[in-house]
Amino acid sequence: MRIANLDGRLVLKYPDGAADVEKASDGRFAADPQAVFARWDEFVAWADTLRAPLVKRFDPRHLKAPAPCPPQVFAIGLNYADHAGESSMPLPPEPAVFTKFQTSIAGPNDEVKLPTATVDWEAELVVVIGRRALNVEPAQAWDHVAGVTVGQDLSERTRQLVGTPPQFSIGKSFPGFAPIGPEIVTPDELTDREDLEIGCSINGEIVQHSRTRKLIFSVASLIERLSAILPLNPGDIIFTGTPSGVGHARSPKRYLAPGDVLETWISDVGRMRNTFVEGARHVSNTA
Ligand code: ZN
Repeated sequence: MRIANLDGRLVLKYPDGAADVEKASDGRFAADPQAVFARWDEFVAWADTLRAPLVKRFDPRHLKAPAPCPPQVFAIGLNYADHAGESSMPLPPEPAVFTKFQTSIAGPNDEVKLPTATVDWEAELVVVIGRRALNVEPAQAWDHVAGVTVGQDLSERTRQLVGTPPQFSIGKSFPGFAPIGPEIVTPDELTDREDLEIGCSINGEIVQHSRTRKLIFSVASLIERLSAILPLNPGDIIFTGTPSGVGHARSPKRYLAPGDVLETWISDVGRMRNTFVEGARHVSNTA
């Protein structure tokens, strides 16, 4: 099953269009795309029995963030060995966890304002929780996943690395810095949920390209380790980390510029297309 947020309304997505969930369910399920996760099992059971819903064609540019206001947003740093290496950081003994604050969530087609000239890209697999997880064993971890989607962990490197310790959460939480989408895909739709191709390109030039089997802490391991500390609730999301190829690690360093088109994709899941414009200049209080 594939679900999406079409102009603020929850839809089931099919190859030839989308069905509005509130209308197809006669109001049983709300139009609010974030509300569905609290009733995930009930929703999946209903969707399984749905026959011949009214499917309408739509313009994919009208798709918004499929989980628009997740209560908790977890993000994992340095979760691919090649990215830790290019960042000159040691491999973390435990997942390096930070948050992207909820106001940074954006859609798969959104334009993002650049607050500085040092904004970087990070293509990531994003996991959406569908069933509360607390003290979950790895073998059961995927049972708590509603689905996965594509994400970008956009990062303002100057703010992120301004001092010691680094400021991951705030440097990666400018408005629009967490685009996700275009849809949430349930795990049964994936050919191999542990091994998805992931990548991104700038103006057509591929800058990151890897596979999620190279994650140091797998999706199951992340759910196990996070849920050993606190509950993961329906609608929460996890940015699982980025492979190598970010701009900050290049020589010379490269960052996103106004006019750039950043396309991010994951096999079996989908593709986002975000564009960048000059934003109001962020004034650093340390410069
Ligand atoms: Zn990241």
